[in-house]
Parts: sequence; structure tokens; C-alpha cells
Amino acid sequence: MHKIAILFVTFFLSLGCAEREIDTMLVIKNVWVVDVKEGSLLEAKKDIWIKGDKIVEIEDHNEQTENSNVKIIDGSGNYVIPGLWDMHAHPDDPEMWRMDPDGASRDQLMPLFVLYGVTGIRDMAGSMEVIKKWRTKIKSKELIGPDIVACGPLIDGPNPMWDGSVGIADLNRVKPMIDSLKNSGADFLKIYSLLPDSIYFELSKYAKQIDFPHVGHVPLTVSTAEASIAGMKSQEHLLNLLIDCSTQADRLYAKEVDYGNITDTVDKYVYRNELMLDTYDAGKARALYETFVKNDTWHTPTISMWYKNAYFEQEIVKDSIHFKYLPKYMRDYWKPKNNDHLQNRLPKIIAVKKKLVDAYKELIGEMNDVGIGLLAGTDVGANPLCFPGLSLHYELQLLVESGLTPAEALRTATLNPALFFEKEAVQGSVGVGKLADLVLLDANPLEAIENTKRINAVVLKGEVFDFERLQEEFAVVERSVNR
Ligand SMILES: [Zn+2]
Repeated sequence: MHKIAILFVTFFLSLGCAEREIDTMLVIKNVWVVDVKEGSLLEAKKDIWIKGDKIVEIEDHNEQTENSNVKIIDGSGNYVIPGLWDMHAHPDDPEMWRMDPDGASRDQLMPLFVLYGVTGIRDMAGSMEVIKKWRTKIKSKELIGPDIVACGPLIDGPNPMWDGSVGIADLNRVKPMIDSLKNSGADFLKIYSLLPDSIYFELSKYAKQIDFPHVGHVPLTVSTAEASIAGMKSQEHLLNLLIDCSTQADRLYAKEVDYGNITDTVDKYVYRNELMLDTYDAGKARALYETFVKNDTWHTPTISMWYKNAYFEQEIVKDSIHFKYLPKYMRDYWKPKNNDHLQNRLPKIIAVKKKLVDAYKELIGEMNDVGIGLLAGTDVGANPLCFPGLSLHYELQLLVESGLTPAEALRTATLNPALFFEKEAVQGSVGVGKLADLVLLDANPLEAIENTKRINAVVLKGEVFDFERLQEEFAVVERSVNR
């Protein structure tokens, strides 16, 4: 207690704002701390002292709290983990702009992240203006929302897939385009699928030169190994990975598959994917993994996005209870008749999608075993049943089903994002000097990853959302989206 006592004296002596500073002192008492790095609980129950937005002390639990000016949270029976990060989020998804033209209801997504324990997101496409507006509102507490690290617009080929992307076909435009995105406040670059390979390689070269990270979809004409060597810092959705593991990779890339007498487009889709799966080669996979490890290439599998799509018909039954928290434009876009990702639900297409999910889960397990850095991401936005906040818990569960231990899965949303952003000094674990972004759970997530959903309280930069307040805020969201 000595250090704390000294802190108090300092506060009383400091002029003017002394009282306000003491008001910001908070202690969470008698909690089990989950050490995400070690994958274990700290050996005894702790009291966690928070001043402002930082953890200032963690000590063995002490029944007494000497100073009455401290706000006390009783954490007995709780397990505390760091605030979670969703490393692939689209709260301002350009794919849905046409459903919500004035953008008025997009703000309603922000609180949901926090209420489900997600205190940070990596925004993977959208308008920097919207991001800046959110950051301002969140900082001034006009809006409850997570930390946002963002790329701004997608960088795609000359005929971009989605609204709001930067389409680029001219090598001479690469440098000015990157410079202008950087100047607009983007934290990194996000590459999209239709970017021509020549442009991609030019872009990756310049991005490296100016030390500006690029991540994203490995373009359709680039292999995952080439993107890894070119310095793509994180690859998303496991795209192109199964092609690269196939003995028929060259033909699959060149779109020179011999379809024999198959003429129907759906049958061709099925044939092509089955060929890719049937020609999986473990040796090619191992060589690829070595490339990723060597180049420090992270992967964001977004397995819950693939899963919810493949199993949409069964999952919507379970998930419909959560629709009451979604803005109307999102509920509308998730209806099969409106949704680009839910066209053509023929049984043979669904069967292929389910096989792909199984294959992805195997890849994830193997990649984890060889030490490739994995990031938890949900693709929340236009993709059906990828809910703000809630989906992160689905992702963690599916990562465990893919072979990760609960501790490893937890790391993909806590320590790994911190390492990825090179911010482990201030985030990613529960420790002194770290941001007070915390989630208090009613059960131990190391025993069962599902326990991350048993949220008792969330602490966002030192602001406490206890169980009662969480329920109130959910009710506020529900009222605002159904107005
Ligand atoms: Zn995405």
C-alpha cells in the first residue's frame, strides 16, 4: 500500500484539480488476473489500482482500503482479462453505404463493441472522415466506442469492387496515392483483391521505403508467399492460401482448369474448389508456413465470417435474438435477398463452403502450431451474422475449435494485436502502466473460451461499465435502433 499512500499525498498537495484526480482513482478488488502471456492465472487474487486511464498498481488482495476517496469495485468471483481487439472490422462498411446513405445510424454500432468487451478495433475500410468523427465523439464521451486504428479507403484495381475505394492502374500514381493516404491520417494501407500485381509490387516497395505498413487481401494474381516476401504485414481471410497449398496452383491462378464437359457456372465453381481441396499438398503448406514465419507475416483468418456464411441457415435461427441491437439498414442488408454474400444458396454450393471451413480450420491449427502470429478478426459489417462485438467471441471459439488452446485464442485478441501494433508497453495485458481497458468475467476463460461471453463488467480507459450499466446501455442501443 505504501506506493498508493504516497500517491494520495501527492494528489492532496497538487493544486486545483486535486479532488478531481482522486475521483478518478479506482480499485478493482479481489480478482483473479488472467496472465494472457503465460496462459495462467496470477498465483493469488489481486487488487488492481487505476488512475485515470492507466493501471498504476497491482497488489495481493487486501481486505482494507484505507482511503474513502477511492471508488471500489468488488471483483470477487471475477476473472479479469485485457480489453479485446477486433482486428478486422468494418463499422463503416462501403458495401452497405447504399443501405444507409446519410450514415446517420452507423454511430449505433460503436457502443456494441464496448458492451461486448471489445475496447479496440482495426478498421479495415471506410472513410477517414467518419473515423475522425467517431474518435472525436468517443474522446469527448458523446459516444461510447472503442479505440480505432484505421486504413481509410481500400486500394483496389482500376475498377474497384466497392464504393469509396481508391482504384489504381498507373504505376506513376502509386507514390502520390500512398503519400496522400498517409497525410489524410490513415494508420496503414489496406490492399484489395483486384489490385494488379505490378501495382501491388510497386506499392509494397514504396510502403517499405517510407516505413508505412500495408496489410489486406492478397490480390488475386499474387501468391501468399510473394505478398509475405513483399512485406504485407497481415494477410486477411486466408485468401489464396489453399491455392498455394495445391499441386495445381499454377493452373488455378491462370484460370486454366480443365473442366472437361462441365459447362454450368455453379458446377465449375464446385469442381474448381474441390480440385483445390483434393490437391492439397502438406509439403507445400509447410514451405509456405516457413515463409510466413521468416517474414513475420501475421494472419487474420476471420474464420467466424466463413463459418457464418457456410452455416447461415442454421446460424440465423440461433442469432436472431441479437438482431434487436442492430440498426435497421444492417438488419435489412443481412437478409438473403439483399446480401451479396448470400446469393445462390444451392445445396452443392453450401456443401463446398462447409468443406472450405473445415480446410481453413485445419490450416489455422497448423499455422498456430508452427508459430505464425494469428489475429482475431470478425469482418463485422456487410457479412451476415458478423455482429459488432459479439462476433469476436464467436471467432475465439472457432479458433479453439481449430486447435488453439483458450490461452492462445485469447492472445489473438489481446497480446497479439499489441505486438502487431508494437504497443505492448501500453496494451495487450493486465499490468502496471498499461491502459485500463479490462473485461471482468464471471468464469475462467482459460478453462473454457466460451466464458469470455460471461461479462460482468467492462472498464474502458478507467471508466467502469458494471453489470447494471451494461444492461442499461444495451437498452439504450435497443431503443435507438428501433426508434
Ligand atoms: Zn473485410
